[in-house]
Amino acid sequence: MELIILGSAAATPIKSRNLSSIAIRYKNKILLFDCGEDFQRRFAEAGLKFNKPIIALVSHFHGDHIIGLPGFLFRLSLNERTAPLTIFGPQNLFLYIYLHKKILGLKAKYPIKIVEIDHINNNLIEFEGLDTEDPKDTVKIKDNLIYKSKYFSIRFALVNHSITTYAYSFIENPRYGKFNPERAKELGIPESRTWKKLQEGLEIEFNGKIINPVKEGIVGPKRPGRKITYSGDLAPCDSLIELGKDSDVLIHEATYSKILAETAKEKKHSTSVDAALDAKKMNAKQLILTHISARYQDDALKLLEEAKEIFPNTILAEDLLRIELK
Ligand SMILES: [Zn+2]
Ligand SMILES: [Zn+2]
Repeated sequence: MELIILGSAAATPIKSRNLSSIAIRYKNKILLFDCGEDFQRRFAEAGLKFNKPIIALVSHFHGDHIIGLPGFLFRLSLNERTAPLTIFGPQNLFLYIYLHKKILGLKAKYPIKIVEIDHINNNLIEFEGLDTEDPKDTVKIKDNLIYKSKYFSIRFALVNHSITTYAYSFIENPRYGKFNPERAKELGIPESRTWKKLQEGLEIEFNGKIINPVKEGIVGPKRPGRKITYSGDLAPCDSLIELGKDSDVLIHEATYSKILAETAKEKKHSTSVDAALDAKKMNAKQLILTHISARYQDDALKLLEEAKEIFPNTILAEDLLRIELK
């Protein structure tokens, strides 16, 4: 599992920083937090493959977080893409993409699903394909859960920004510990398809006996999965703390230095100190500061120093920075 920064600038791109976008490589999938302008260039530079299943999570409709999405979709339509793409975001997400079909002839021959979050009525409004303007389905949201698969789930929270903005958490399902093939052999279980079941913690019947892989020491006991939380743009708020509780990694906007705390408050953004305090409050293990204002082109390290005084395990996002998550 790998986290790759595709863009770390706020509002204005600079030579070294593209606008907001972050990728997670997980098993065969790619998850994207926001789609800042021209993120497809960094996507390619990062060596990410264009024909993978992708889940994109759009935090809000400020241009610096969404303008790269149409360009990316046009790119995908040039490729012989077959893998599915699902995009989550605030209401009007479908309209935003559909207009690119209507006006610019955007096509999508691969499975594309657009899911609007309606936090007021607690619904997911699902659109499938770009052929019809009518939603396919409306699904009730329970416990802020918007996506669930065999390996992970995604939750959202409404956060405090100047327009409707969502933060997201990627939460891996609990995993079984290390597989011990020697122990399986000791019990006389030959290497076969049953090993896969044992690796997944499932009981098997072997020679008329039920084998529980955890009790027999074939796999280690269940341990919590990894959790990554992305703040979007926001001023400090309780909903982010609740969503991100015990995150392994918190990716938090830090538009300003603490010296501009008043400006941050006014514009409903965060300082690097706000980000550090949030990381501490939610008991995160690591903090990544991103969405850095262009005014810190030459001295962004001071944001890092400010945050580290409060939350030592902090790093400053740089475009194309890769973090392997053990
Ligand atoms: Zn922004
Ligand atoms: Zn914003």
